[in-house]
Amino acid sequence: MTARVLDGQALAARMQEEIKPQVNAFAAEYGRPPGLGIVLVGNNPASEVYVRHKVKAGTDVGFRVDLERLPETATLADTLALVERLNASAVHDGILVQSPLPAAMGPNAQQRVFDTIAADKDVDGFGAESVGLLVQNRPKLVACTPAGIIEMLEREGIAIRGRHAVVIGRSDIVGKPMALLLLHRDATVTIAHSRTPDLAAMTREADILVAAVGKAGLVRRSFVKPGATVIDVGMNRVTDEATAADLYPRDHPRFALFASKGSLLVGDVHPEVAGVAGALTPVPGGVGPLTITMLMKNTLSAARQRAQAQHVGART
Ligand code: NAP
Repeated sequence: MTARVLDGQALAARMQEEIKPQVNAFAAEYGRPPGLGIVLVGNNPASEVYVRHKVKAGTDVGFRVDLERLPETATLADTLALVERLNASAVHDGILVQSPLPAAMGPNAQQRVFDTIAADKDVDGFGAESVGLLVQNRPKLVACTPAGIIEMLEREGIAIRGRHAVVIGRSDIVGKPMALLLLHRDATVTIAHSRTPDLAAMTREADILVAAVGKAGLVRRSFVKPGATVIDVGMNRVTDEATAADLYPRDHPRFALFASKGSLLVGDVHPEVAGVAGALTPVPGGVGPLTITMLMKNTLSAARQRAQAQHVGART
């Protein structure tokens, strides 16, 4: 058996085409496009790439997108002040602060910043209010990566209700919200993590297996029940030849790509899993493109909610 490939790139492109007319309709009704403020502190190279993609995706669907940069030396107070300015802005419906923040800001800086973003503009869904509403199954703005995975499962006709879902990883941004979204769709959910004994035995129980770990090729064939749906969230840059050769035969085009570039983006799921899974997301081109598309969906949704609230407010 070769797993059906769940093409996130194609789905993201379709969804962006669906979003565009809705953005136009919003702009026609309210006299302005939805607005997204992106905060980037410092010059982390990976963050620069992510932010560039987000600015492009937002601009492509017709948003106003403002990239607000602060230097690496910016303090937490500077960052919070910038977030407060965006909170007060009438033209920004969504605020996103790119992680990670410079280490010099201290260990709690990220949470402080997320908690400062106004709940109605929290398009990353990382703030305490957004998370609380998700826990209570009253979701408003949900973390983009797990929301994108649900969108993919639903649109691909993969049943969730009554299935056993195993999520490997318990981060606040992927693992926990993923587990809650699956639970609220009536899956029986197990969350595994680095202290889970006999991970493979646990994951072999899964009808839907989500790997959000950050370890190249961790999920092997022996981890997967035949026919299971496997969602690979991992984005790992492999730079050593031994790891690349463990993932791909030396005559494979992906190995050739590694050899020519000196690095390769791979997931948490070993490619051999394609021989046992029923459906599988590729890396790249699976979950990643959907994450950015869900950010667009969240920003449009935040814009509508804010505009309607202002409309109601103006009438009362
Ligand atoms: P994270 O905060 O580092 O969390 C990783 C989780 O994996 C932790 O819960 C950790 O357990 C668990 N873990 C680590 N080693 C393990 C092992 N050997 N066995 C079982 N569990 C293990 O990472 P994250 O932010 O959730 O991201 C996970 C991956 O997804 C990364 O590769 C990241 O780049 C990628 N990602 C991709 C997208 C996308 O758009 N495609 C978006 C976000 C993240 P403990 O809690 O016990 O430490």
